[in-house]
Amino acid sequence: MSKADLSLAASNIAAQLHWASSVITQSAPEQDSGLLDSKILLCYCLNCEQTYLHTWPEKNLNDQQLQQFQSLVAQRMAGHPIAHLIGYRDFWTLRLQVSSATLIPRPETELLVETALELTLPVNAKVLDLGTGTGAIALALATERPMWQIWGIDKSHAAVQLAKSNAKLNALESVDFAQSDWFSQVEEPLFDLIVSNPPYVEQHSPYLHQGDVRFEPLSALISGKDGLDDIRFIVAQAKQYLSDGAYLVLEHGYSQDIVIRSILESNAYVDVLSVSDFNGLPRVSLAKFYRK
Ligand code: GLN
Repeated sequence: MSKADLSLAASNIAAQLHWASSVITQSAPEQDSGLLDSKILLCYCLNCEQTYLHTWPEKNLNDQQLQQFQSLVAQRMAGHPIAHLIGYRDFWTLRLQVSSATLIPRPETELLVETALELTLPVNAKVLDLGTGTGAIALALATERPMWQIWGIDKSHAAVQLAKSNAKLNALESVDFAQSDWFSQVEEPLFDLIVSNPPYVEQHSPYLHQGDVRFEPLSALISGKDGLDDIRFIVAQAKQYLSDGAYLVLEHGYSQDIVIRSILESNAYVDVLSVSDFNGLPRVSLAKFYRK
């Protein structure tokens, strides 16, 4: 961002939006989100809804607002995710705080939540969310099924603190969050449902060098050479923690469904199937486990 670019832009809403959206777009043309990003950042600085921007295009920003907005735009141009700049991301019906300690909740993970909500489970089902991060999945399930007993675990202490804080912010404090490296500290013997959005990206994937993921923890993204190390581990270990006829539901990459179904089948899970998102891509697989 050159000083000249800035001095050309008047300090009213319309001019600032126009300037920001063009410099953000120039910095990352492939992302195609310059205008939306600018609106979100400007609303954050003005503490307003987006309709305000359209209603008052001529309104001037004060010096402090201008400075804050231009600094956020500069950070966005350097690639920082919008969620990190404003401190939250909306997921399901919840507003969740985010930090660099966890993955930013993705809209595609709502498919896992929808899939879990369609299962036939006991009214007070015991549910475990493995690698909960912000707590997104556990909290979305809790808001829909207040009678379920839900635990969320994460290896990262910072993630557990964040998830607890999100539970509080959303008045869902019945969800229990604890630190655990997968099942290592899980004390509850048997669950009716285990869900997870584990790391599943291949170690050398070029995807890791693009866009927002560059600012997210690799430990939440990468899982060995083929991206499946954690899924193989979870599928094998979960058998000890599933009650008879309980479900395991996993998010995964769009080209991993066949191999994941075969991992589930070779671990003696039954009724194995994958669910596709609205683009027709298989992003969630699930199965039942019967104890012999
Ligand atoms: N869905 C994530 C992404 O596409 C990957 C996160 C994960 O490995 N769970 O960035």
